[in-house]
Amino acid sequence: MLSLRDVSVSYDGVPAVVDVDLELPDGEVLAVLGPSGCGKSTLLRAVAGLEPLTSGSVSWDGADLRGVPTHRRGFALLFQDGQLFGHLTVARNVGYALRLRRAPNVRERVAELLELVGLAGYGDRLPATLSGGERQRVALARALAAEPRLLLLDEPLSALDAGLRERLAADLRTILRGAGTTALMVTHDHEEAFTVADRLAVMRAGGVVQDGPIAEVWREPVDPETALFLGYARVFRDDAAAAILAAAGRPPAPAVAVRRSALTVDAHGQLTGVVLSSRATPEQIRLVVDVPGVGEADAVAPLDSHPAVGQPARLAVDSGRLAVWVTAPAPL
Ligand code: ADP
Ligand code: MG
Repeated sequence: MLSLRDVSVSYDGVPAVVDVDLELPDGEVLAVLGPSGCGKSTLLRAVAGLEPLTSGSVSWDGADLRGVPTHRRGFALLFQDGQLFGHLTVARNVGYALRLRRAPNVRERVAELLELVGLAGYGDRLPATLSGGERQRVALARALAAEPRLLLLDEPLSALDAGLRERLAADLRTILRGAGTTALMVTHDHEEAFTVADRLAVMRAGGVVQDGPIAEVWREPVDPETALFLGYARVFRDDAAAAILAAAGRPPAPAVAVRRSALTVDAHGQLTGVVLSSRATPEQIRLVVDVPGVGEADAVAPLDSHPAVGQPARLAVDSGRLAVWVTAPAPL
């Protein structure tokens, strides 16, 4: 198990990572999510032993890794641009670490890894003949070849275009699960984090502001800024949220406490609005509904419903889902 205790890293006295505590149990995938420049890569490099800690400790199964060089940590790294060896075939790239170690059955192992990443039969190709997504798959296979006890991924999909990124994110999840890999991925993309990881740590200005299982963090963001960063389209002020709760027959939220509730399209709903937009995801339909007296609200509907833009939709408050963020009155 990877543990970070009070990890801080500074560059020339300027802090980039500040007092980070994290635990990553074996076999789980943790995504560190945060905006550009918040310290994600620095944190990853510190875990890898590529960046000295200003304070705190990184340990594995209770053993402090201070002084253990990168290549002795048993970790593998995968970057945005997988950095394949251009003059080596796909098979040679994937088998590189195995050959260095004089591992047995390299050919079979390479074939298994290529199969795992969906590139069976690509062994003889050169990297220049592959698409960006294929190259990243080869880089992933190469990283997994050494059977690292921890895989560190720095924005592994960021260089790919949107459609491919989505597909490869889902594949990455399947591949990591299939291999039982413990992985720490940093990304600025919440969809990517949700797709790939089990756990989420939200980072801001060098610190981790919230972490936990993805569903928990998503259901209860620690503050409005986090909610917006996680992909919430809208953060309501207390009065708007109170109007929604009142219309749904719920007690108003206390002025200061941060509360949450959600709007779900439901045949028995108490609220009526007009659908402004709808977008289907694999799990549900996401709507923006104009609710008279309240304004635009985010809502979700089951896939078998057919809300059309301009049509009325009935809404119910469902505490199990979050679409409306209630907070103390503040300018939006
Ligand atoms: P992220 O990966 O989240 O975009 P980084 O970890 O790369 O963020 O950077 C965090 C902060 O540290 C930034 O302000 C960046 O400018 C600074 N930084 C990163 N690397 C160095 C470096 N080698 N020397 C000095 N400052 C750095
Ligand atoms: Mg970075």
